[in-house]
Amino acid sequence: MAGAFTDLPFVHPLAPGVYHVRSPEKGRFPHCHSLLIDAAQAVLIDSGIGQERIRALDRVRRIDVLIISHSHPDHILAWTALADRHLLLPAETPDAAFDILALGTRFTGNPEDGAHWAQRIGGQHRIAALRPPDGRFGPGQILDFSPVQLRALRAPGHLADHYGFFIPGAEVLWTTDIDFTGFGPWYGNPEADIDVFAEDIRRFAAISARVTCSSHKPPVFGDAADAFRAYQRALARQRRQVWELCERPRTLEELVDLSPFYRHRFPDRRTQQGFERQLIGKNLALLLRDGKIAERGGRFVQVC
Ligand SMILES: [Zn+2]
Repeated sequence: MAGAFTDLPFVHPLAPGVYHVRSPEKGRFPHCHSLLIDAAQAVLIDSGIGQERIRALDRVRRIDVLIISHSHPDHILAWTALADRHLLLPAETPDAAFDILALGTRFTGNPEDGAHWAQRIGGQHRIAALRPPDGRFGPGQILDFSPVQLRALRAPGHLADHYGFFIPGAEVLWTTDIDFTGFGPWYGNPEADIDVFAEDIRRFAAISARVTCSSHKPPVFGDAADAFRAYQRALARQRRQVWELCERPRTLEELVDLSPFYRHRFPDRRTQQGFERQLIGKNLALLLRDGKIAERGGRFVQVC
C-alpha cells in the first residue's frame, strides 16, 4: 500500500471511486486509456496503459479484477501483468482470443495475413493471447462492485465483442472505441459493420452523461453531443472519399493502393493493405446498395 491513486500523475478522479487512467503516448496505438474502479474491489477496464502504469496502480491497491472491453491488441496489451487476477471477458469474445495466430486470422480474414499480423503487430508490441476468463458479461448486464456499478453496453459495429460501460449515479460513460479520433470510426476487421457502428454511435449519444470517456482521446466533460455528431459525420466523410476515387473506374486493389484511409502511413504495408481493403470494401458495398456507384467488369465507378 503506497499513497493514493491520485498521487500518480496519470490518474484523474471522475467521481467517487471512479478514475480515468491516462496511457502513455496520449492513448495512441498500441496503447489505450483505462477506467479504474476503487470500490469493494479494485477493477481495471483494459490493460493498454502498459505494464509500468499497471504496476504503479497495483502498488497503491492490489487490482482484483481485469475487465477487457474487447479483444483488440491495444486493449489487451500488457494484460499478463494481471494474469493471476479475476478476468472478465465479453460473452461474445471467441476462442480465437486465446491463440495469437487464430486472433490474427480473425482480424485479417485469412491464415496467411493472420500469421503476418501475429508476427509483425503482435510480436512488435508483445501482444499475448488472452486466457479463458473467470467470468463473462453480456449486453445490458450490471456488474456490481458495490457501491459502484457498471452497465455493460455492447457496441458490435467496431468488433463483435466490443463493449462500452455506463456508471449510473456517477453518470460516467465509457465509450471505448467510439473514440472521437480524427480518423473517425474504424471498422477494418472482417466482422465489423458500418451501419451497425452508426447505430452504436446514435445509441451512446442518447445516453445522458456528466463525463464521456473514450479509449484514445481525453475525457469530454459536460455535453458530448458535438463530439458524437462530429464522429458520426466522419462516417459520411469516409464514404465520400471512397466515392470520389470512383470518379474513374477502379478495382478494389487500385483503390487500396491509393490508401485513402491510411495515406500510406501505417507502419506495416501488408497489414495496412488488409485493413484498408476492409475499410474501402465495406464503403463500396454501401455505395453500391445506395446506387451511388456501379460495378463494371470488376471496376467501381460513380453513377451519380
Ligand atoms: Zn478496438
